[in-house]
Amino acid sequence: MTSVNPLIIVVSGPGGAGKGTIVDELVVRDEQLWLSRSWTTRRQREGEPDDAYVFVDRDTFISHVNRGGFLEWTEFLGNLYGSPMPAPKDGHDIVLEIELHGAQQVKTRHPEALLVFVQPPSRDEQRRRLQGRGDPDHHVVERLQKAEDEERLGAELADLVVINDDIDRVVGELLTFIGVARRRQG
Ligand code: 5GP
Repeated sequence: MTSVNPLIIVVSGPGGAGKGTIVDELVVRDEQLWLSRSWTTRRQREGEPDDAYVFVDRDTFISHVNRGGFLEWTEFLGNLYGSPMPAPKDGHDIVLEIELHGAQQVKTRHPEALLVFVQPPSRDEQRRRLQGRGDPDHHVVERLQKAEDEERLGAELADLVVINDDIDRVVGELLTFIGVARRRQG
């Protein structure tokens, strides 16, 4: 750990908002960012990279919960997801890409964490993105229903709300936001 605590940047938002694309681009453009890799009990999707998650069974996940191994975790549409206790490289800031219940847990534990809430440009576009990645139809419907509540709560809790209609602009906004937070931290 360095003398200055790392920033914790939580990127949240409904499924299909494009959070994953945003954080992937963020960590490429800012080498001081360290992206947390979550654990999940969800099955690996067709074509999904092996390192998208640490894929584990339910027993392994629950044992890790009982050991206090997660910063936050939740059940989302029948699967467990959790962020292991972050261990960033020295001088790096932490990025978590998680759903809203997890984001609330992080904010409770670390009120100084910065919450960025990503909204899809429209419900139609969100549906297209969800269908495009091969989720079963009933999951697409559930995620779209969940989005209404998530967006209301997300807007209340967030330090920054962005609408993901242009990835370059959104990533630029986030980099500026993170830069300001770093300067404030000294
Ligand atoms: P997916 O199954 O589409 O990869 O992820 C489903 C949802 O779980 C997404 O909103 C994603 O951001 C969220 N998620 C991924 N990892 C974590 C995690 O470690 N904790 C929490 N709370 N949510 C996560």
